[in-house]
Amino acid sequence: MDKLVSLCKRRGFIFQSSEIYGGLSACWDYGPLGVELKRNIKEMWWRDMVRERDDMVGLDSSVLMHRAVWTASGHEEGFSDPLMECKACHRRWRADDTKDSRCPECGGELTEPRMFNLMFKTFFGPVEEEAAVIYLRPETAQGIFVNFANVVDTARKKLPFGIAQIGKAFRNEITTGNFIFRCREFEMMEIEFFVKPDTAGEWFSYWLEERQNWYIKLGINKENLRLHQHGEDELAHYARVCYDIDYLFPMGWSELEGIADRGDFDLAQHAKHSGKDLSYFDPDSGERFLPYVIEPSAGVDRAALAFLVDAYDEEPDKNEIRVLLRLHPDLAPIKVAVLPLSRNETLVPMAKDVYASVRKCFTAQYDDAQSIGRRYRRQDEIGTPLAVTIDFQSLEDSQVTIRERDSMKQIRVPVAELTRTLELKLSGEPLEVLPPGGKYWLGFEG
Ligand code: ATP
Repeated sequence: MDKLVSLCKRRGFIFQSSEIYGGLSACWDYGPLGVELKRNIKEMWWRDMVRERDDMVGLDSSVLMHRAVWTASGHEEGFSDPLMECKACHRRWRADDTKDSRCPECGGELTEPRMFNLMFKTFFGPVEEEAAVIYLRPETAQGIFVNFANVVDTARKKLPFGIAQIGKAFRNEITTGNFIFRCREFEMMEIEFFVKPDTAGEWFSYWLEERQNWYIKLGINKENLRLHQHGEDELAHYARVCYDIDYLFPMGWSELEGIADRGDFDLAQHAKHSGKDLSYFDPDSGERFLPYVIEPSAGVDRAALAFLVDAYDEEPDKNEIRVLLRLHPDLAPIKVAVLPLSRNETLVPMAKDVYASVRKCFTAQYDDAQSIGRRYRRQDEIGTPLAVTIDFQSLEDSQVTIRERDSMKQIRVPVAELTRTLELKLSGEPLEVLPPGGKYWLGFEG
């Protein structure tokens, strides 16, 4: 974890929030590369969960919602963790993070646990009084439930169908740490998938499978994923069944995503508290009922951490160590680096032309500082899957070299075929698939 945190800082993935003022704990800022990684994660989720499915629609509900939403959902009453305070150093801990009722920091005696609500409270409007209390949402799910009827009325979807949302959530976590694993401000990617009650079991299994496969498809090693079923004592107040997809983080197996069968808890609660009918009319059976809900709920930041941990690799390289992020091309912040062999002025115009055409199609970076070897290493370290090198030969034969991050293999392709070849390569074609008629050689870096 230390190596990754340092790489993330050094290369501009992730910075501590408000760092120049000493930092704000459990809040993080995503730098130039981090923002690209995070956007890619969200983009792939949206592509796979919403755009490529007929049974899913999107939503973007507001962070601030009527206080009654959180009364109905049970959050005002029950979204809390047991908190214990050290009588000696006054640090506060989540009861499940302590052993033998002793302070993990100083070994001091701890107070009895008391429940601490994790929702951030603020005031709505100019008057700071109890009637104006409002919360920053601790999950995006409730924004979906309160819009259920709006979506049914407008999107013309029949059960089973889902509503998906990506957005910020806020939790005043008691114990933080482990980098971006547990933040006080974070982003969620949530699906509420509405089904006929007697099909909830099948859909639960479906989503459990589907969501694990999504991480594997994007490069997570299967061996680093496992399922954990919540026992009676762990189940949230709304859940009938819940599984965590755990990932083997550096600090051990921890939750990456939660999949819950929420039954009709939320729709029933909102119908009761709002007095509105939230039932669904099934045109096939002529019945009216409250659908059950299967919820795959993922964290963007936690997914980013898992993808980074999984991609981080070191290998011997002559007398040094090559550090690389073996990120899936769909997630890599930069897809293609354009590197003139040197700053020689005869190379620059062609290199700039190549860069101009490449960046129209892919997130690209131009780098001409220091030796070509060093530049390859810099790109390896930030996970850039492909580098295009322009050398003196290129000026004569209009061909450039494509170098692959993982294998360090190189091929030579005509400039006219470059973007098409890069596209094939980024979509996973083996290096040996070459453009028709292209003159090329195969070799290794160095
Ligand atoms: P934990 O037990 O780790 O506190 P949780 O069970 O409260 O998590 P859920 O309410 O199921 O978490 O939230 C769904 C997902 O949102 C989690 O699997 C995780 O990916 C993400 N998430 C939850 N809390 C945080 C947080 N404080 N920081 C970053 N991501 C979070």
